This record gives sequence, C-alpha cells and structure tokens, in this order.
Amino acid sequence: MTKNIVVLGSLNVDNIMKMPRMPLVGETMALTDVTTAPGGKGANQAVAASRQGANVSFIGAVGNDANGQFMRATLLTNGVNVDAVSTNSDVPTGSAYIMLQDSGANTILIHGGANQALTIEDINTALIAQADVLIAQFEVPFEVILAAFKIAKQNNVQTILNPAPAVYELTPELMAVTDIVLPNETEAQLLTGISVINDEGVLNRVSDALQAKGVQRSIITLGEAGSFIADGQKRWWVQPEKVDAQDTTAAGDTFIGTLASVIAPDFSNLDDAVQRANIASAIAVTRPGAIPSIPTDKEVDNY
Ligand code: AMP
Repeated sequence: MTKNIVVLGSLNVDNIMKMPRMPLVGETMALTDVTTAPGGKGANQAVAASRQGANVSFIGAVGNDANGQFMRATLLTNGVNVDAVSTNSDVPTGSAYIMLQDSGANTILIHGGANQALTIEDINTALIAQADVLIAQFEVPFEVILAAFKIAKQNNVQTILNPAPAVYELTPELMAVTDIVLPNETEAQLLTGISVINDEGVLNRVSDALQAKGVQRSIITLGEAGSFIADGQKRWWVQPEKVDAQDTTAAGDTFIGTLASVIAPDFSNLDDAVQRANIASAIAVTRPGAIPSIPTDKEVDNY
C-alpha cells in the first residue's frame, strides 16, 4: 500500500564553498569553487521518502525569492506536493554556507530565514489528518512541531522525530505525541549528556536516558557502525552494509525517509524497516551530494 507521508521541515539552499583550508582571522582567501545545491534536512527526507514510492507532501516555508522558487521546483521535480509550502515575503529562504576544505572536513553556517519564521498557522491540519506518517526535524520552531504532532496523534498518524540539530529539549509533552525519536550519535549525546561510543553498554545507557525523557522508541544512527534500536526493553544493534563511502551527506536523511516509507502501522516490522533504511543510506554514501545521492526503491530492491 502506498504511504501518505507529510514532512514538516526546512528548505535550504546550500552554498558550497571549496577552499584549501579555513581562512585565518583577518585573512582574505580565494575559494577554489562555489556551487549551490538544494538542501535542508526536511527537503532531503521528503525526497528520500518520495523515491521510495511514498506519496509525500511538504509543510514549510520559503521566502519570496529565487531560492524559494528553486526549492519548490526541486520538491516538485522529485514528486513532492508543495501545496502546503507557504511564501513569506518578510524573510529570505533558508540558506546554508558549507565551508568544504581540501581535507574533506566541513564547517556549516545556517540562516534559518523562512524556516524559522514558520508559525502554527502554517500547519495544514487536513493534510496531516489524512497522512500515515508525519516526520519533523528541529530546523523549524519547536511550538510548530509540537502542534503538528498533537494533530497527528489526534488522527492516529505515526510521528517520527529527527531531533537535528539538537537545539531543543525532548519535553514530556512532545514525547507523549512522538512514536520514534531518531538522533545520530552527536545529537544523542547532546540530548542525554552521555558521551556516545560504539559500545553496547553505553548505547543501552543512552537509550535508557532517552526513555527517562519519555521516548517510546529510539533509533540512534551511528554512521559506519550502523544503528542501535530501543523499543521498550528490547534493544538491538543493526549492522550497516559494507560499502566504499565517498560522501556521507544526507545518509541520515535517506535513512529516515526510507524508514517512514515502510514502517508498519503497529511498528511490528521495525527491524525490517531499519534493514531497508540501512541499504538505502549505504547506497547514498557511495555517491556525492545530498539529493542526487538518494536512491530509488528499485535501486534498494536490486541491492
Ligand atoms: P549517520 O547519519 O552518519 O549516523 O548515518 C545514517 C545511516 O547511514 C547509518 O545508520 C548507516 O545505516 C548509514 N551509513 C552512514 N555511513 C555509512 C558508511 N560509511 N557505510 C555504510 N553505511 C553508512
């Protein structure tokens, strides 16, 4: 059955600046290249779910500018419905400035713009009510996420929270309406205060700490170490696919979009869903870029 997925999230234009190294304070340095690409965790996750065959709608906002048109067009070409993407004339479209050094290290600055100006009035209640799954990240205001998740729960819609970046608390009120919390290891560390390492004992403690905050199910993604799942007292580690990683941008977003597109209404197939998310994100890391690296359902089937 085709899933109806709503993504409440951010739309950013990424400005990727290639440089030999970070400039020193007071230094003027030439860039070796500048490119722009569509981005924002919300956009990536929406495209990932759409490429897995889900019916995806986006709730978000852009500015009244060329970047906003670019982001709308990107979603549309990837089959994502943009009827609930509003245009805010007072602020620019969200943007990210990615400083990519020759060593491969990157440093990112973000301007939230229209993403941060999103309000509860921008939530399309009817859209959420008819969805199977609602996904959100932490790149839009907290109160908007909370209000949307409450609407979802009133309508038996599953909710997946990617607390990225980890700028808000996992409050009891939000956790009461969240089915799955899906942080990466850095976010899990910031949310729990526990130093996350790839050790079963530590990951159990982190999962306990999340559950103490009211988290019902958690999936901590661990990059090349796979992911660690906690569903009540059941805990297990899912090993990643062995691939030659080139660029891990959007790996986590591909994981989330894929998981949402296959998760069963009662979460009974959590392990199978994570296995498929693992394959999709492993394919994504073998290719450069964010949205261009996200695989289709056929590519995951044939893996
Ligand atoms: P991350 O957001 O970096 O934790 O990655 C999300 C998911 O992508 C992980 O849980 C893995 O399933 C997959 N992944 C990331 N990096 C790699 C890698 N180097 N090799 C295989 N899979 C990876």
